[in-house]
Amino acid sequence: GRCVVAVDGPSGSGKSTVSRRLAAALDASYLDTGAMYRAVTWAVLQSGVDPHDADAVIKVAGDIELAVGTDPQAPHIQVNGTPVDRSIRGPEVTGAVSAVAAVPWVRQLLVAEQRKLIAAAPRVVVEGRDIGTVVAPDADLKVYLTASADARARRRSAETLADVAATAADLHRRDKLDSTRAADPLQQADDAVVLDTTELGIDEVVSRLLALLDW
Ligand code: C5P
Repeated sequence: GRCVVAVDGPSGSGKSTVSRRLAAALDASYLDTGAMYRAVTWAVLQSGVDPHDADAVIKVAGDIELAVGTDPQAPHIQVNGTPVDRSIRGPEVTGAVSAVAAVPWVRQLLVAEQRKLIAAAPRVVVEGRDIGTVVAPDADLKVYLTASADARARRRSAETLADVAATAADLHRRDKLDSTRAADPLQQADDAVVLDTTELGIDEVVSRLLALLDW
């Protein structure tokens, strides 16, 4: 039958790796909602708009077309036909994305697109900050991943090759913005299964989630 898994948590909690691995194991689609906020941010920067100018951000967001691929082995995203998979991971986008994601109208637009993508997939693992609370409150399984600030910074800096201390500062800044914004802040759903991944390996986390799904 249908199966929707919501995976939320702060940056560096292991969401992406766990979600992709889980989706592959379930033969499900994988939806990276953070990539959608990043792609809008890329378009905002590309058009020379100040990411803190909400009206200008809204205009850019409303004018672009996002194409989102949901294969867990090869997720991809395009803005107006341009692949942006690499550029959305750069420091410019990472530095501006929380401001763009705080604009309520941008969230409404992307949440509507996310719900369509979810409805189109028979099985799907969705990762983000507000999936269990806002995007898919009826998900079959809600997971909230956490990890110590240290572990999160080390993982992120291993991916980006940026300095650990600078990465820790950036994660702290984004977590604060993401969890204190007025619109759909990062939040643990009441019915989420909470897993601390500081000491758990990826395989262990994925196999616990498969067990919870009776897979
Ligand atoms: O997960 P990732 O680090 O790629 O997300 C980038 C940013 O997008 C987050 O810091 C957050 O500001 C925003 N985001 C969000 N809601 C989501 C997913 C991401 O606000 N569901």
